[in-house]
Amino acid sequence: MINIEEALNIINKETKILGIEKRDLLDSVNRVLAEDIYSKDNLPPFNKSSKDGYAIKSSDTFNCSRENSCKLKIKGIIKAGDFIEDTLKNGEAYKIMTGAPVPKGADAVIKIEDIETEDNNLLIFEEIEKDNNIIKFGEEIKLGDLAIKKDCVIRPVEIGALASLGYSNINVYKAPTVALIITGDELVDINSNIEKGQIRNSNEYSLKALVTGLNAEVLSLGIVSDDKENLKEKMKYALENSDIVITSGGASVGDYDFVKDILKEIGADIKFSKIAIKPGKPVTFATFKEKLFFALPGNPSSIITTFQKFVKPSIEKMMGKDNFDSEEFPVKLMYDFHDEVGREKYVYVQIKKVDGSYCAYKVGSQCSNHLMTMSRANGIVIVPKEIGDVKAGQVLNGKFIFRK
Ligand code: AMP
Ligand code: MG
Repeated sequence: MINIEEALNIINKETKILGIEKRDLLDSVNRVLAEDIYSKDNLPPFNKSSKDGYAIKSSDTFNCSRENSCKLKIKGIIKAGDFIEDTLKNGEAYKIMTGAPVPKGADAVIKIEDIETEDNNLLIFEEIEKDNNIIKFGEEIKLGDLAIKKDCVIRPVEIGALASLGYSNINVYKAPTVALIITGDELVDINSNIEKGQIRNSNEYSLKALVTGLNAEVLSLGIVSDDKENLKEKMKYALENSDIVITSGGASVGDYDFVKDILKEIGADIKFSKIAIKPGKPVTFATFKEKLFFALPGNPSSIITTFQKFVKPSIEKMMGKDNFDSEEFPVKLMYDFHDEVGREKYVYVQIKKVDGSYCAYKVGSQCSNHLMTMSRANGIVIVPKEIGDVKAGQVLNGKFIFRK
């Protein structure tokens, strides 16, 4: 049995960034940018009005006041999308709409709410400063400047920024294909009634949701009965057609737990097969050529815990995100907890902030067969392997999982 840090180090060492592909902009959300993006334009590409109002010369408003208004001649109207060649002269104004180019000669825009008109004249009652309500040429970014740095995660805001820069496709890191094999003779599909001895195959659904939630591809091979030859064929097929293989169940020491034996038979390099974590001890990690193989325990909450802790950072690293460290913070356990020493325990809890500090409340039994406890939890408290029992009030490290 190895500890969590060792396991993560081994997985990290074996995980390689997959490579780069060009993708359409909208298909790149949550991927990682694999190139520096430079601006192909000055933005905005012209002096732009930020208000509906009048383009004027600020010098024409010198000494204007309520008592002593200034009068300018309105020469015409400029709407967004227009471009006029005319140069504004002293004593003149153009009506201008938000987003329209400010004409040559004008150096300020006065907003429509602040003026009055009389025939074809504009009346101004205050002094207007130069550059008022003008978004200057190149103010947002200059032609050739670095706009978005390589290795940035592409969020909706980056999609918008890239669109404004005229990038309809970009280089991003590839996402892995993750093959799923679900083992167990007791399993039936979730649409079936459960007969004697059977349970519904929830793990396939949890795993699909976890993998697609990371924007990786799923190759689901469905339920495979606890039959060694059949399972071996499926495992070989999965290794040929994916980057990462995950098996659910059959990874422990039971009579029908064949996954580890098969891995040995096909010549996979087994790196470890037990981790000091609870839930989720029987995790086998192996490599086969460039492929990674995670044999995860069948218990529904063990599989989610071990996926989050060991598989997720590996998938993310392949996609260019380096997430092997996670953020933990001090949390006060609000109830007595009893367990054994020997393994690091992930205790599923409800974390709430009370008077400025985080407190962890009980949500149910920590039996690794129970998904409901996990579903009621919003975080975990980590009980170190040297500690078995924890008294209420003790502060340990914790973190949020899935949601706050
Ligand atoms: P195993 O790791 O195969 O020994 O399974 C451990 C426990 O998890 C048993 O109680 C199984 O019935 C349960 N289990 C295994 N596979 C699944 C699955 N796909 N969905 C829900 N529960 C499962
Ligand atoms: Mg089984």
